[in-house]
Amino acid sequence: MMTLEQYRDKAELGDAQDKLSSFRNRFTQSDDIYLDGNSLGKLPLKSIGLLNELINNQWGNRLIRSWNENWLELPHRIASKIATLVGAHPDEIFIGDTTSVNLFKLAYAALKFNKDKNEIVTDALNFPTDQYVLQGLVSNQFPDHRIKIVQSIDQITIDENEFLKAINSNTALVTLSHVQYKSAFLYDMNAINEHAHRHRALTLWDLSHATGAVPIKLNEWKADLAVGCTYKYLNGGPGSPAYLYIRKELQSDLINPIWAWFGHQRPFDFDSVYRPAGTIQKFATGTPSILSLAPVETGADLLLEAGIDSIREKSIQQTDFLLKMIRDILLPSGFSIASPLASHLRGSHISIQHPEAYRISKAMISPAEDAISIIPDFRPPNNLRLGVAALYTRYMDLWFCVQRMKSIVENEEYQRWDNIMKGVV
Ligand SMILES: *Cc1c(COP(=O)(O)O)cnc(C)c1O
Repeated sequence: MMTLEQYRDKAELGDAQDKLSSFRNRFTQSDDIYLDGNSLGKLPLKSIGLLNELINNQWGNRLIRSWNENWLELPHRIASKIATLVGAHPDEIFIGDTTSVNLFKLAYAALKFNKDKNEIVTDALNFPTDQYVLQGLVSNQFPDHRIKIVQSIDQITIDENEFLKAINSNTALVTLSHVQYKSAFLYDMNAINEHAHRHRALTLWDLSHATGAVPIKLNEWKADLAVGCTYKYLNGGPGSPAYLYIRKELQSDLINPIWAWFGHQRPFDFDSVYRPAGTIQKFATGTPSILSLAPVETGADLLLEAGIDSIREKSIQQTDFLLKMIRDILLPSGFSIASPLASHLRGSHISIQHPEAYRISKAMISPAEDAISIIPDFRPPNNLRLGVAALYTRYMDLWFCVQRMKSIVENEEYQRWDNIMKGVV
């Protein structure tokens, strides 16, 4: 057992020895302590200049000429950087649309491809949009399919053996989040892919909470399909476009359910008959969202410069440190831990629970007096998520967070709020 004071010394030492500490200065500084980078990443300073140039010069001055001068090549350049981040080839990544839309396109393509089988396997911890997309596909397009949902006993992890048992010769598609949005449980992607392939099932991974947080090796682990978000640890900005991945050998066999002009072989021939591109570009739909796409490049560059292995190393040290503080300081105040304790089983955020989680989060964000504002996020029914973004989270941020939570509960500061949830946080 260590005291808060002893942890404070540890936190100061951690910050002094942090090899990635300078990356923090590459982002805007806000007045609060930000522990929600797993939901919306911070703004990189470089993106401010980039967006100014984009708006004032490329759009404001060069107008339509900018498509040829800058914009048409932009999605390809960014896709190749994301490819490096996730261990894929540049021609296996398309960037555009939202994660939900990309998930729909790829799940549809997988079910059409494996049309002699009719089971989809996923788990109960998966993000709601992933579950809705599957429900919609079965309801609207694949009425003879059924979704098998593997349950979690502790609501934190999924038993890998139980999961593998759900896959059989009738499994068309296995789809999972690599890192779970609530508990941060991390799947062994390689093992699941291997087992699925033995049964000729395709795998589709949602990398939203993993990209920029944990090393991902899509090629080495033989993943078939993947989608991911760019506004979390990738720091691309609110609603920045998502990406999708299709293993090279599968590309010619898969069909995009949305036939649209940016997926055409030659969109600018304005041909009236659809002919899909011979590359991953056939999974494009319409015009790229240039303004929200451009800052994704800054985010990807920062991650590549720091290196995903260094990011992971710091993230593990910080989440381990946070878990120890929670154990010693917060468990006696009625909190419990809702993330895996073993670092190889979790991503980069820590979930904790408390019956007053919602009101505690309110008190953290808007403190009564001179305490510093701290931004976690709340996920129903009683989860507080604390996101560690190794590029800008300090050990002292984590210390302040634990110190504040203890004081809010001890002084019942949360009583100032009512229990009705509004908006995003
Ligand atoms: C954040 C997140 C998404 C986001 O989907 P959008 O369509 O981009 O809003 C999807 N899946 C998971 C697992 C996520 O964490």
